[in-house]
Amino acid sequence: MDHIIARDDTAAAWRERDLAVLWHPCTQMREHLDPAGTLPLLPVERGEGAWLIGRDGRRYLDAISSWWTNLFGHAEPRIAAAIARQATTLEHVILAGVSHAPAVELAEKLLSIAPREAGREPLAKVFYADNGSAGVEVALKMAFHWFRNRGIDGRTKFIALDNGYHGETLGALAVGDIPLYRRVYAPLLAEAMFAPSPDAYLCEEGETPAQRAHRAADALSELLERHAGEVCALILEPRVQCAGGMRMHDPAYLKRARELCDAHGVFLICDEIAVGFGRTGTLFASEQSGVQPDLLCLSKGLTGGALPLAAVLATQSIYDGFLDVSREKAFLHSHSYTGNPLACAAALASMAILEQDDVIVRNGDTSQRMATLAAPFADHPHVADVRQAGMIVAFELTRRGDKRTPFDAGARIGLRAYRAALERGVLLRPLGDVLYWMPPYCVDDDALQLLADTTRAAIDHAIEEAACA
Ligand SMILES: *Cc1c(COP(=O)(O)O)cnc(C)c1O
Repeated sequence: MDHIIARDDTAAAWRERDLAVLWHPCTQMREHLDPAGTLPLLPVERGEGAWLIGRDGRRYLDAISSWWTNLFGHAEPRIAAAIARQATTLEHVILAGVSHAPAVELAEKLLSIAPREAGREPLAKVFYADNGSAGVEVALKMAFHWFRNRGIDGRTKFIALDNGYHGETLGALAVGDIPLYRRVYAPLLAEAMFAPSPDAYLCEEGETPAQRAHRAADALSELLERHAGEVCALILEPRVQCAGGMRMHDPAYLKRARELCDAHGVFLICDEIAVGFGRTGTLFASEQSGVQPDLLCLSKGLTGGALPLAAVLATQSIYDGFLDVSREKAFLHSHSYTGNPLACAAALASMAILEQDDVIVRNGDTSQRMATLAAPFADHPHVADVRQAGMIVAFELTRRGDKRTPFDAGARIGLRAYRAALERGVLLRPLGDVLYWMPPYCVDDDALQLLADTTRAAIDHAIEEAACA
């Protein structure tokens, strides 16, 4: 390990400098400003593999892959080199009316690895955006506009799932169902319909995850029976509702959802922004259901976590639906940085690493190790559920360790665990009272052992602290 001289005073001074000017995302800033240190700010100097090196000279394990973006570790040399090379060749150019190699080569690559279903027309075209939410906006607008172009005006609604998350822009928020992010903006949002989540955590007594998936699919079927003529697309997160608390469901659901969309002439949009690129054990989560969507949204890990970029993959039929003499029938959506060459170069390097390093196979081994380390938590008196999908493991904390006794939100168990883990050198960022592991793929056995030990200590500390608070 590098020998780094501790510089605690520098870290403290940095916090002050930061808080004087920055407004941080997804944060109640008052908790940072609070002299009691309710939410400590972590000043980071650099990244190295699965680790972040703080300005205090300490190393912190990035157990959440920096909001699920990082795949192969921080400052990955091959990705860094690709960006550097591209920066001295062509840093950016308008993509309307112009072509460049990174955009074309990346599109070719993505289409070649995208989920494919026998007998269904493959995903054939790539539209770029520059972040996940923008990618979701693109997919929603494409689905709606396609019907308009066919002279069908009645299909103006989307179906999404309870507890789903698709981003923060107004269109993406409209199909999201996490009250903390959505409720205040509700008056501004387009109307969407929500179908029950197949979430296995919601299984009733004696019900299996597969049965739960089928029950949720039956409810989706009824919703479609009643409203199909008004619906242009169903949008969902395959396999794991990540922001919704790493809630996982049986792959049978997506298979049924695909069949129902086909039966009702509704597009299926798979949002694999968080679960794509090997995170859940297969290259794409949709593969576990043997399903191919009509529109596939990718972002987060697309560049290995180095630069913002999103891609929406569409079928030839969707693309063809926009070909016309009318410019209004074209998909005019654009962002200044659409198809940015630096981001595309980073993504190409990232896609090459997925293959060169045999990442899916290696992740299989790492997932096994994670399963072994996670198993004992099932007996913890405050853990109601331990669940896993590949490189994601989640622990649902409750008062008595059963599903019926959630902690009071005011107890801030997750926040207390966050602070306790940070003090022990691990960056966890719980979703409410759900703690989860979603480390970069390069995480090694020692780091995983530290993660497991720290998670247990953080849970115990949080519960003890909350009781005496
Ligand atoms: C993070 C996320 C988004 C939004 O992506 P941003 O780049 O944060 O805008 C959309 N969908 C899912 C499933 C996500 O996890």
